[in-house]
Amino acid sequence: MPNKPVALVTGANKGIGLQIAKDLAARSFSVLVGSRDIKEGEKAAQSIGADARAVQLDVTDQASIAAAAERVRKEMGRLDVLVNNAAISQTGKRGATIDQMIEAARPSVAPRDDVRAVFETNVFGVIAVTQALLPLLREAPAGRIVNLSSAMGSLTLNADPSSAYKEMFGVTYAASKTALNAVTLSFALELANTRIKVNAVCPGYTATAPNNFSGPRTVEQAAREPVRLALLDENGPTGTFSNEDGPLPW
Ligand code: NAP
Repeated sequence: MPNKPVALVTGANKGIGLQIAKDLAARSFSVLVGSRDIKEGEKAAQSIGADARAVQLDVTDQASIAAAAERVRKEMGRLDVLVNNAAISQTGKRGATIDQMIEAARPSVAPRDDVRAVFETNVFGVIAVTQALLPLLREAPAGRIVNLSSAMGSLTLNADPSSAYKEMFGVTYAASKTALNAVTLSFALELANTRIKVNAVCPGYTATAPNNFSGPRTVEQAAREPVRLALLDENGPTGTFSNEDGPLPW
């Protein structure tokens, strides 16, 4: 087994995922840059440095997932950290305003194909990638799984009548993150008696492509809590949902 720990970040060719990959490389990980477009992944890996390599990985494509898992085993021989970062917020035209996205996700009108496509990536993709990589994570001295969720998916926050954001609790992206939280807890419970820790994290509203770079947080700020969870020691928690300020309600 190589001495250096290995991390795989899905959707790491840009945005918060790329920053998480950079930060883990800076903390002495060999980093696998998951990207559905291998050329974009290679560009991103080059920007990180010598200990980063691109892996073609479309989280909605079982053949791609299986090939990536096989490659990790053959080329790296180990996997210590899996960051399930890849996600989509909508299937509609790029550049839609936040108001248009909120409108398109209202449960009374949301196109069911959109809801399915977003769940396919944000929920089923996470289950499929995690299942494929669990055998390697089980062999690791300290397997860590970090799922990029969102406070927008919190049932507790959105059920509060005074919530300023409940307008945004649509049936597409927000509900997919609620489901992802359930998936996170479910994996954490099953794996509670192993060395693997599974946690969900909200990076905060961050300037990236899905919100037309309107978020106030930088990717550097957004990556901090996911990276902290990726580096938890054996006394760290499992089955939690948090942001940089602390625990979030499910
Ligand atoms: P982003 O810049 O759009 O990055 C998303 C990444 O996911 C891209 O690399 C994208 O690849 C990839 N991806 C999408 N579908 C994929 C698929 N089927 N297979 C593999 N990769 C796929 O978005 P971001 O803002 O950095 O988001 C990162 C994570 O943070 C997401 O889980 C998001 O929900 C969460 N989050 C973000 C914010 C925010 O304000 N930005 C807030 C809360 C939570 P392509 O380049 O090929 O499209």
